[in-house]
Amino acid sequence: MSCLFCRIVSGDIPASKVYEDDDVIAFNDINPQAPLHVLAIPKRHISTLNDLVDGDDAIVGKLVRAAAAIAGEKGLAERGYRTVFNCNAEAGQTVFHIHLHLLAGRRLGWPPG
Ligand code: AMP
Ligand code: ZN
Repeated sequence: MSCLFCRIVSGDIPASKVYEDDDVIAFNDINPQAPLHVLAIPKRHISTLNDLVDGDDAIVGKLVRAAAAIAGEKGLAERGYRTVFNCNAEAGQTVFHIHLHLLAGRRLGWPPG
């Protein structure tokens, strides 16, 4: 299995998990860009947002709901947070297993770089 995030799902590679259910795990980003930087991923491999199909609506919703819940648990929901999916090269996607970035704990610039 060559996909890094599939290896995190299988337990092959350790991660600092903050949330897990049957379909989703979330863990701290190894190179955090904000005081809270978590990645929420589906356990099932999906390479990019371009590969989503009708049946994937629920899993995408679960990723967003997990991110919102984690921001709430960390006490950062009211201050605010950002969620980002990077898709393909120009957006800077480096791991080709979809992941929702959750960033919080500092003022985040807009527009993004
Ligand atoms: P992206 O550039 O949107 O594909 O994001 C990939 C993210 O995965 C980056 O923010 C990396 O810091 C993060 N990352 C890479 N390897 C690991 C790992 N082993 N554990 C946690 N996060 C990782
Ligand atoms: Zn994968």
